[in-house]
Amino acid sequence: MTKLKPVFAFEEADSKNRMLLGGKGAGLSEMTRLKLPVPPGFTITTQVCNEYYENGKKIPKNVISEVMQNVSKIEKKTGKKWNSATNPLLVSVRSGAAISMPGMMDTILNLGLNDQTVLGLAKITNNSRFAWDSYRRFIQLFGKVVFGVNDEKFDEVLNTAKKRQRVTDDSKLDVNSLKRIVTEYKKICENHTKCKFPSGPNEQLQLAIEAVFKSWMGERAIVYREKNSITKDIANGTAVNIVTMVFGNMGDDSATGVVFTRNGHNGKKETEGEYLLNAQGEDVVAGVRTGKDIIKLKTEMPKSYRELTNACNTLERHFREPQDIEFTIERGKFYLLQTRSAKMSAGALVRTSVEMVREKLIGKDRALTRIPAQQLEALLHQTIDQSKVKGFERLAKGIAASPGAANGIAVFDVKRAISMGENNQKVILIRKETKPEDVPAFFSSEGILTSQGGKSSHAAIVSRGMGKPCIVGCNDLKIDYENNRCSANGITVLEGEPITIDGSTGLVYIGDVPTVQPQVTKDFQTILSWSKSRKKLGVRANADTPDAAKLARKYGAEGIGLCRTERMFNAGDRIGLFVDMIMATNVKHRKDVLKKLGHLQKSDFVQILKAMEGYKVTIRLLDPPLHEFLPNPEELMDKIYKNKKGENLSETKKVLERAKELAEINPMMGHRGVRVGITYPEIYRMQITAVFEAAAELARKKVNAKPQIMIPQVGSNAELIHIKQIYYEVKSEIQKKYNVKLNVSFGTMLEVVRACLTSNELAKTAEFFSFGTNDLTQAVFSFSREDAEGKFLPEYMEKELLETSPFQSIDVNGVGNLMKIGIKQGRMIKKDLEIGICGEHGGDPNSIKFCHSANVSYVSASPHRIPIAIVAAAQAVIQQKKKK
Ligand code: PEP
Ligand code: MG
Repeated sequence: MTKLKPVFAFEEADSKNRMLLGGKGAGLSEMTRLKLPVPPGFTITTQVCNEYYENGKKIPKNVISEVMQNVSKIEKKTGKKWNSATNPLLVSVRSGAAISMPGMMDTILNLGLNDQTVLGLAKITNNSRFAWDSYRRFIQLFGKVVFGVNDEKFDEVLNTAKKRQRVTDDSKLDVNSLKRIVTEYKKICENHTKCKFPSGPNEQLQLAIEAVFKSWMGERAIVYREKNSITKDIANGTAVNIVTMVFGNMGDDSATGVVFTRNGHNGKKETEGEYLLNAQGEDVVAGVRTGKDIIKLKTEMPKSYRELTNACNTLERHFREPQDIEFTIERGKFYLLQTRSAKMSAGALVRTSVEMVREKLIGKDRALTRIPAQQLEALLHQTIDQSKVKGFERLAKGIAASPGAANGIAVFDVKRAISMGENNQKVILIRKETKPEDVPAFFSSEGILTSQGGKSSHAAIVSRGMGKPCIVGCNDLKIDYENNRCSANGITVLEGEPITIDGSTGLVYIGDVPTVQPQVTKDFQTILSWSKSRKKLGVRANADTPDAAKLARKYGAEGIGLCRTERMFNAGDRIGLFVDMIMATNVKHRKDVLKKLGHLQKSDFVQILKAMEGYKVTIRLLDPPLHEFLPNPEELMDKIYKNKKGENLSETKKVLERAKELAEINPMMGHRGVRVGITYPEIYRMQITAVFEAAAELARKKVNAKPQIMIPQVGSNAELIHIKQIYYEVKSEIQKKYNVKLNVSFGTMLEVVRACLTSNELAKTAEFFSFGTNDLTQAVFSFSREDAEGKFLPEYMEKELLETSPFQSIDVNGVGNLMKIGIKQGRMIKKDLEIGICGEHGGDPNSIKFCHSANVSYVSASPHRIPIAIVAAAQAVIQQKKKK
């Protein structure tokens, strides 16, 4: 890596270099170049952050002198003086990585204040109250960020001061109260550090810069990067932006706010956002006070409103992307503090993509690639069933912050929400406000409800990014953390009681309100149709029931890539029969039971093939080991042991014997898949017959059915030839019986390492391949998925031994390389061999990109992920083109 200048003033930076300057730094320098009103400042690059870590967490020496030179430049531009008791220069110190990680890293405001400069600030602004208020805010933030002091300690002092002065609002505290607060705050910090609170601005600045660098490796930032797959090639370190402070809390001619150039919730073309008079930016973002709708600024401060709308237009046209803008008005003078691409709900992304193409602001390729495919899942989220909602009592109404409906039990504690969520309980997290350290609970909750904050509050932004339903600013809701309950409108909800939130309307209901599956909007259909004409990969569904097949068609699946036939045996009316089949003591008995099962399977196949008329349906023969269908031996033993009533348990004992016989030490590698088909040929014969019978019946009805038979767990061509013999026998039998020619292709999964390595042999027998990347990943890593995910994978990711779970996203270097060998060798034998992938990775955008580049024929994903897969497949084409 070539060493670049460590510090850039906004006007001298190459604003295209987001990797170096971070998004915020790049935005500030770009706005400076556009001659928009940005307070003077400079950026310490992400490269310095990396050097800081390489240097054993020390800021490289030359950096501080460069920083001080840039501080002098600001002094010249503003006429203010660093550490001055008459006209002090104060700065904010802000984090900012190449990718926006809202609220995940640290920021410090009002830096440069001490017992002297506060007097200067008071004098020059002629506002003592404002100066002391800024000072106490600075100590709190500095104490929290640099020293790690708990916020609650500061809150206690603040609340006591308010009580003493008999006021409820922070802004009503007088100078004397604020002075006392400053003294107490400093004491809190000094008790914590056992050192004097740093008063010199140089020392403050150095500590603040270090704290921002440290926050890059803070727990919440690491978790956020992990969950959002932000790898080093996307964002490597944080930059630090030092910006002249401008104040939105200088009185009623000052304000601060956040706006989106288009509605972040629904995508409508309107300036949307909120502001607070006489406040600092953190008040809006943290949701401590609920802001006013931005439209009110038009009447309260018409000149600033005009400047704001002009800036919105300029920035959106310039970046060709809706912007999320932070502004401050200091005594009537308008400043821009930040611009970045707006984080939007999936619905808003889709609508703005379509509308911006119509407005000729962007082209279709950009419209498709700006939508993170993963986020589209939110559009397929459930909504409240309006026809059933009448009987349910409304608890309260808040601000609709992230769409979708969620049911769950009320939980008021972050830690409990995490543990309950991890135990598969559906949880709605209810808090007054949320903080970045609460993010892990977002992942384990169905939805989030807060009583404070607006649409730009932490809870709202994080939920939207995750596609989780969220309501904020539900002011009527009184939350009592101590007693684990909340109440509104005379109704009390205790922890553990069910509630429903509707993040699209802001309504909170008591009880589990029925929900309905989502509708694909017209704009979404447009995006899907643009994607379909751009993509090369086929997109099929993993579906095992007629209903799932219909849903998959509705979402645009071009066939079924995996129909797991064993799932059909799990239905209530079949499992008994299947157990009978396993318990059969001789082949004749087994065949009798199999006949009945064959009828049931055939009728399922008929319906599924019909729903997928004209498209291929890959039917995989039985895969799991037989013992999975029998009760657990321990449970059976327990039943026998506890049989106090003296019931006749001879049947149970027989099942126990069989279960013990079939039990395996390592079922993942045991008697399953094709191995069961070879040792119990009657099972596979029944399934193959059911497929051919279904095909024959549909052929008679002139339905264009395209079944494919797929064999799991194959490791050698000998196994495949063995089963193909049964296939040939059944084929000729059924063709004769129905007097039709049937076209049912025969193929194999590639999910065993040996299958990939010998795919040239398998290709002589198989007419198609499909990678089972779930098993292949287990085999390549020698990880058993259940054990890995439950025991050590999370720690592997925490310790950065793995960037993402290989069960979620294809491990390109290992599993991916093996797939490439399998593809190359298979196609050496059959040039146009159809090769799909049907593991869970088929719905993962990064894996889809890999599949596209590896010339896979199609991906197969669960029905709800089909739209994601379609868009990701189109993005793969566009991104590959860009690389070339
Ligand atoms: C696979 O292994 O990827 C696969 C699709 O099979 P299953 O998940 O059913 O084992
Ligand atoms: Mg498998």
